Amino acid sequence: MIPAAPARLQPRGWQALWRDAIRDPRELLALLGLDALPGVSGGAAEAFPLRVPRGFAARMRHGDPHDPLLRQVLPLDEELRPVPGFSLDAVGDAAARAGHGVIHKYEGRALLVSTGSCAVHCRYCFRRHFPYAEQTAAAGQWSEALDAIRADASLHEVILSGGDPLSLSTPKLAALTDALAGIGHVRRLRLHTRLPIVLPERVDQELADWLARLPWPVAVVVHANHAHEFDPAVDAAMARLRGAGASLLNQAVLLRGVNDSLDAQADLHERSFTAGVLPYYLHQLDRVAGAAHFEVPDDQARALHAAMRARLPGYLLPRLVREVAGDASKRPM
Ligand SMILES: *Cc1c(COP(=O)(O)O)cnc(C)c1O
Ligand code: SF4
Repeated sequence: MIPAAPARLQPRGWQALWRDAIRDPRELLALLGLDALPGVSGGAAEAFPLRVPRGFAARMRHGDPHDPLLRQVLPLDEELRPVPGFSLDAVGDAAARAGHGVIHKYEGRALLVSTGSCAVHCRYCFRRHFPYAEQTAAAGQWSEALDAIRADASLHEVILSGGDPLSLSTPKLAALTDALAGIGHVRRLRLHTRLPIVLPERVDQELADWLARLPWPVAVVVHANHAHEFDPAVDAAMARLRGAGASLLNQAVLLRGVNDSLDAQADLHERSFTAGVLPYYLHQLDRVAGAAHFEVPDDQARALHAAMRARLPGYLLPRLVREVAGDASKRPM
């Protein structure tokens, strides 16, 4: 008889790490030595639950209530305060839906909302109010989304989005891309994912093998807002994605108290380049209800971007954009 190895000695797959995420704000604060933080009474977590993988929490500074990673995920009471101009569907997704689980706003490319799940819940997210249950092309129910893409020969790029598309198992992703491979006008695949940053273990060999076998050029657009989000495990995940042939880009959101200084921005883009990732967009916050305290005024955002242009090489300067419902692209600021 072979004795079972103690569970803690087994290498843990990403699904186990996903399930083990911190969901209780009190537990997160206790881990960081911040037990009695004012403004965190729990109501905001009922509206949009806290979720943080433990590996991401481990990159937060102990004892610092202003830690830039903590601020992105900590539910604050002030989220519940209604602020004029901050609404439930800030970017007009409801109006742009082309078919079950497809959002087609821009020429030649469409988002396939492949899942509603994320490994981390970002407090500023414009999808925090998105009616996923209704609009997600859930696992195994992609036929309407695929029909919509098949029926529109102008669509050359499919963007797997969500939620986080890498929250799907690799066999499910493969089933989806096998179906897309039968659509002749699809020429490029893009993934919008935060998982390589917040749960880098997701980028395992099975995922890399899937990516490497895809018949199209692939762009992986990750989402990191602060240099501290990178660590050796994230570097390894990025190396694996690049090894599988993907081009790596980062989109960040400009967030007050997180990355609204020149040093924070310069460090972010320099650090991501060290991991092999080029900056893509720096998004001005979507005006979604609950996120008003993250907003950086437009004038300040433009001044910051001008200072970044003077500090950084051109290839490390992201485009500062805002999403405006009804526009033909993200709007440069
Ligand atoms: C942001 C977005 C895209 C991608 O836009 P790019 O400028 O190509 O990165 C595509 N579709 C939708 C609906 C989007 O919101
Ligand atoms: S990972 Fe992306 S989609 Fe998910 S909550 Fe964060 S910002 Fe939103």
